[in-house]
Amino acid sequence: MDMTKIEALKADIEGLAFSDDPPVVQQKSRDFFWYSPVLRHQLDRVTADIVVTPASEDDVRRVLAACYRHDVPLTVRGAGTGNYGQSVPLSGGVVLDISGMRAVTAIRDGAVTVEPGARAATINAATRADSNQELRVYPSTSRTATIGGFIAGGIGGIGAVRFGPLSEPGTVLGLRLLTMEAEPRVVVLTGDDVHKAMHSYGTTGVITELELGLAPAHDWVEVFVCFEKFMTAARFGNAVAASDEIVANEVGVIAAPFPHDGFLQHRAYFRANQHACILLVAAESLPALEALTAQFQGVTVFRSDRLSAADRTSLPPAEELVWNHTTLRAIRIDPTVTYLQVLYPPKNHLEHIENLLGKLTDEVITHLEFVRVGGELTCYAIPIVRYTTDDRLNEINAAYEDSGCLIFNPHRYTVEEGGMKRSDSDQLAFKRDADPKGLLNPGKMIAWEDPHFKVSARSMYLFPGLDTH
Ligand SMILES: Cc1cc2nc3c(=O)[nH]c(=O)nc-3n(C[C@H](O)[C@H](O)[C@H](O)COP(=O)(O)OP(=O)(O)OC[C@H]3O[C@@H](n4cnc5c(N)ncnc54)[C@H](O)[C@@H]3O)c2cc1C
Repeated sequence: MDMTKIEALKADIEGLAFSDDPPVVQQKSRDFFWYSPVLRHQLDRVTADIVVTPASEDDVRRVLAACYRHDVPLTVRGAGTGNYGQSVPLSGGVVLDISGMRAVTAIRDGAVTVEPGARAATINAATRADSNQELRVYPSTSRTATIGGFIAGGIGGIGAVRFGPLSEPGTVLGLRLLTMEAEPRVVVLTGDDVHKAMHSYGTTGVITELELGLAPAHDWVEVFVCFEKFMTAARFGNAVAASDEIVANEVGVIAAPFPHDGFLQHRAYFRANQHACILLVAAESLPALEALTAQFQGVTVFRSDRLSAADRTSLPPAEELVWNHTTLRAIRIDPTVTYLQVLYPPKNHLEHIENLLGKLTDEVITHLEFVRVGGELTCYAIPIVRYTTDDRLNEINAAYEDSGCLIFNPHRYTVEEGGMKRSDSDQLAFKRDADPKGLLNPGKMIAWEDPHFKVSARSMYLFPGLDTH
């Protein structure tokens, strides 16, 4: 990056908190892309030039105007827990660390208004205390990730088995954002328009406020049910998720031997040959769950309502065993493994799971997360994969794609490849309006950089502006 531009920018933002100390800037230029051997190779040396920490929307406006004036790229960062290199500044410039803007500003029946840096756990504590409500969907990183980062970069999580991924109506009700222009404008998106800026990796504006849907809160009990056969565990998980008598906020299924080998603090509860269903179930649903468990001949090995006070404080919450926490625990034990992320087609997802299970046993430990999409039950697979080469990883991904799964490729840093979706024309049109110079998180939206690029599980988009200094 041309340092005269950065010096000019510094003069414009005088009085705002910033750091250009290289170790600080480098640390704030990274996220959890290192889950992927492919991205590790590409992004390890990428760094911004300066980190700016706004405390208010006015501060954000000043930084945007200065970046626009001096043609400096800007990448927003929440807590940097994204896995696809989403908040890695491919062309250097400014990292805007928004994590300090974290107020919960208003709570009403069915909705909460927050600043983007708020954590889901803090929001849930506030809405429970206020009116016994909680977020419909939140990530397993509820204690660390920002809510703005989740909406701009996440997919689903706890609650998705009832309310679906983030894109389902009723979860994100409104977004307020600032544009990257000479005089940044406030744009408020509501209804279907929120999709113009959701899951766009901060390429379409800086979100400064969010209105999110709330549901009545429950007293959630963590329950682990084990099975000798994986497909029985998967069918049981499906039955729990489909049941009208059981209110479940999380249904994850993880193949043996991982529950025993990977959930180290919970190891005593599992045997090595047991496949586990990890559940969050409303206390009032426990009798119905027990009846279903007996029907499937499952063994309940853990219930959080039966723990001693000491165990209750020493064990991590069950939400930190599921979604991408399963992957994190796998990589901590064996840094050579990695993962994939796919969505099974609804209706016959159990058949698809069984078919693929037979084909990939040696290289894959199956991990399922049940979810409702458009009201229909299906599940994501977030398998733990033994990594050998990039080509083999692409082949395994392609095996899922060929069997009809939708790929969310975690070894790519672009919006399109991460969701394996075609270019979103509404989002692109909105970006043209909100970021005419293309300074927001450059390289992350293929449609902006190269409209003719064809997304496929077998290829990778390489951003020509990638600056590794
Ligand atoms: C252990 C682990 C478990 C995880 N579990 C889940 C899970 O259950 N579900 C899930 O979906 N993901 C999960 N993830 C991925 C990630 O944690 C979530 O997507 C998370 O919510 C991202 O929040 P963040 O604050 O870390 O965002 P960051 O990583 O900092 O940013 C994510 C993206 O959002 C953009 N962004 C951030 N703030 C703003 C803003 N205010 N305006 C505009 N753009 C913005 C950034 O530029 C970036 O592109 C997990 C990751 C890890 C490491």
